Amino acid sequence: MKILVVGGAGYIGSHMVKQLANAGNEIITLDNLSYGYRDAVKYGEFIEGDLGDTTVLTSIFKSRDIDAVMHFAGFIQVGESVLKPAIYYHNNVVNTLNLLDTMMRHDITNFIFSSTAAIFGEPDYTPIDEKHTKQPINPYGHSKLMIEQILDDYDKAYGLRASCLRYFNAAGADPDGELGERHIPETHLIPLVLQAASGRRQDIKVFGDDYPTDDGTCVRDYIHINDLCEAHSQALQRMIENDQSARYNLGNGKGFSVKQVIDVAKEVSGKEIRVTMEPRRAGDPAVLVADASLARKELNWQPKFADLTEIVKTAWDWEVNFLSKQ
Ligand code: UDP
Repeated sequence: MKILVVGGAGYIGSHMVKQLANAGNEIITLDNLSYGYRDAVKYGEFIEGDLGDTTVLTSIFKSRDIDAVMHFAGFIQVGESVLKPAIYYHNNVVNTLNLLDTMMRHDITNFIFSSTAAIFGEPDYTPIDEKHTKQPINPYGHSKLMIEQILDDYDKAYGLRASCLRYFNAAGADPDGELGERHIPETHLIPLVLQAASGRRQDIKVFGDDYPTDDGTCVRDYIHINDLCEAHSQALQRMIENDQSARYNLGNGKGFSVKQVIDVAKEVSGKEIRVTMEPRRAGDPAVLVADASLARKELNWQPKFADLTEIVKTAWDWEVNFLSKQ
């Protein structure tokens, strides 16, 4: 297939491009490089441009016979979305709408969307399945849920088929060592803990140890980047075969506390990690664990990195062999 990957220079997008290209697809990456890296796009064609730019999109769709679009170009920082909602609604909603409308004008009707566990808000129960109430508690979650709703309506009215994949905590790096997580600023737990282990950071700050969990720290469901990407490929295939839109929650179904993650990082790196306790971070639910049985059943999806140690090992290799040398 010929697939346009929007945001293919970012963390998840770059791993997706590699996996799709290795499976024999023809890939075109569109990325404005606001957060992505040109050198993270190692396969296929690269076009620098913005998904809000109708001219660039039109020229891509006119000149290439695109079968499907995968969209990874969302802004992802919850805290920033609270302080600057306008940029989240502009990029994540308005620009995505522009992409969808341009696709519709060119009869491109297959769409894979990067969604998030943040659409559920404070969970009523865990693990969280697809039926769980959707009540986001921040503009980031709202922006993603708005697109999911738009996609429902576009499906009914225009025949746009879309699969939305709600990630829990994406983690780890390409086991070949070619790609990994490079967020600036980095806000995610695993890369920050590993920076503390490698000495690039003094300590890891733990945001709250008074949550109603076994050790008082927040529990999350960490899923390896390659397993996530695998689910996208399978979702695209199934969506085309069945001519049907879908929604999937993606995680391992197992929760690990912040303290457990730090212990695993100590074991994997063989280093001491200094821990500093901090107050809770706003907007963090105590426990977020996915019920991914629908993806397992319908997509025949089986995460290969079900073990947190394996996931952290790939991230540690990336920290030692790439990030520490920058
Ligand atoms: N966390 C932490 N210290 C950090 C970064 C994150 O204690 O420096 C905690 C955070 O409060 C949450 C968990 O680690 O409970 C995972 O956070 P992350 O930002 O990686 O992902 P999120 O769950 O917010 O998507």
